[in-house]
Order: sequence, then structure tokens, then C-alpha cells
Amino acid sequence: MIVTRFAPSPTGRLHLGHAYSALFAERAAREAGGRFLLRIEDIDRARCRPEFEARILEDLAWLGLAWDGPVRRQSEHTDDYRAALDRLAVEGLTYPCFCSRKEIEAEIARAGSAPHGPSGLIYPGTCRSLPDDERRRRIEAGSPHAIRLDVGRALERSGPLFWHDRARGKVAAEPAIEGDVVLARRDAPTSYHLAVTVDDQLQGVTLVTRGADLFAATHIHRLLQAILGYETPDYHHHPVRTNDRGERLSKRDGAASLSSLREAGRSPADVRMLAGWD
Ligand code: GLU
Repeated sequence: MIVTRFAPSPTGRLHLGHAYSALFAERAAREAGGRFLLRIEDIDRARCRPEFEARILEDLAWLGLAWDGPVRRQSEHTDDYRAALDRLAVEGLTYPCFCSRKEIEAEIARAGSAPHGPSGLIYPGTCRSLPDDERRRRIEAGSPHAIRLDVGRALERSGPLFWHDRARGKVAAEPAIEGDVVLARRDAPTSYHLAVTVDDQLQGVTLVTRGADLFAATHIHRLLQAILGYETPDYHHHPVRTNDRGERLSKRDGAASLSSLREAGRSPADVRMLAGWD
């Protein structure tokens, strides 16, 4: 059974790019007689707001989308992320990182080279080799810390990895491209990478459809699936909608928000067309 999902973050209003992505996921499920799920990715408590979530549900329903089963809200499932983190910690695949952003930048400047991954500077691994007693001492002293994945060790454990992408065929995963990514933030019990991987497994998602702007993240998700013993869904990274200047639409492009189009009198059919949907 094909199970897809649409997983917006309630940090603003949905725009035409989201509409395309949601319609894409729903169609992939319906065509195959499968299920289409809705997940609210509200881990970032500082940026997410209940009124945005309410607006998202309203906009999707207005557009004619119907999801199956209850909405999963990530903020209500922090125990699931904690359990996955604990498993990885027991296996020695994570480590606490006490570095602030400033310290990371200073360390990179000292090293004289600044390798970049798809999301920016790569963490130089400063805390990877901290002795255990030093880690314990700092944690007991209440030092704020993130939890990072030891990608090198995880890869030793997993060996070479692949996934099937409906748009690109067989893809060899390169999880090291982002370095030792954060799995739990200083200010949040999980990171995007961990929450998405855990949720897709727990919700039985078999086909992850999302914009090609998230393609790089799949390298990391594939590694997390391997070390957590999860199933690997199929993927379909679809083209991302751009504005007239060829830039990726963002929530800041207020004019393209579904609510503003609705308020301006556009119909759901108009909006589907504007989103590039046939
Ligand atoms: N919550 C993510 C976003 O709004 C999407 C996550 C995903 O589809 O994997 O960009």
C-alpha cells in the first residue's frame, strides 16, 4: 500500500509551492489506492504558531485536499524522538556538542579551511573527541549542548547505502556531505532530520514526496534509517515552484500565499492552476 504525506511547518502561510507539493503527495497516494497523511512539523517552538497551523488546515481543506486519519503533530511526540536518540547514544553513534555557533566559526577560521555542505558550513568535529569524563562533567554542570550524529562511525556500521528515487532512479547516499549533523538541538528535543525519519517510519510512509530543495536531506535520512533499523521508503523529489525572478517561493512572498489568493476571490481551481497543477 502506498502511503504518502504532506509535512508543512506552521511558521507562516502556505504558498503556491506548498499547494503543488500537497497536491503531488495526495495524487501519488490516490492514484495507487493508498493513503495520504498530514503531519505538522512544529518542533521549532520559537517559529511555529497555532494560528499558522489552523490556517494551513483551512487552506488545504479549501483547496479540496482530504487527508486520511488524524494529523500527527511533532510537538506531541517528543518521546518517540528521545527513544531513537537514546538508542543511537547507547550504540555510540552520537555525541554531545557544547560548541556555540561563534565557537564553531572561530574553530573553522583557525583551521584555515571552511568546507561547505548543502546547508552551509560543515561542523569541524571539535566535540567528537572529547573524553567521556569531560562530557559528563559539562553535562552535570548544566552546559547547554546539542546531540550530533557521528557520521563516520554510523557509516562504518551501515556500509554503502542507496535509495530509489522516482525522479532520478537509484541514488547512492552520501550522508557525509553535511558532516556530523545535529539530531537534537540545544533548544529543541530533536532536529528536522531525526523527527522526519522517525515519523516516516512510525507512520508507515512508503513514498516520500517533497521538493527537490530537500534532496540533500535524504542522504542523511537514509543513513538514519539504516542505523535505526527502519524501512526505506521510495522518494520522489519534485521540481520546486519559483517566482517570476526564478527564485524559490518562500513564505515571505506574501502575494503568493493561498490565503491572500483566496481573499482576493480566487477559486480553488484557479489556485491549482496557478500552482502549476493540471
Ligand atoms: N517540514 C518541511 C518543510 O516544511 C518538509 C519536510 C519533508 O517533507 O520532509 O519544508
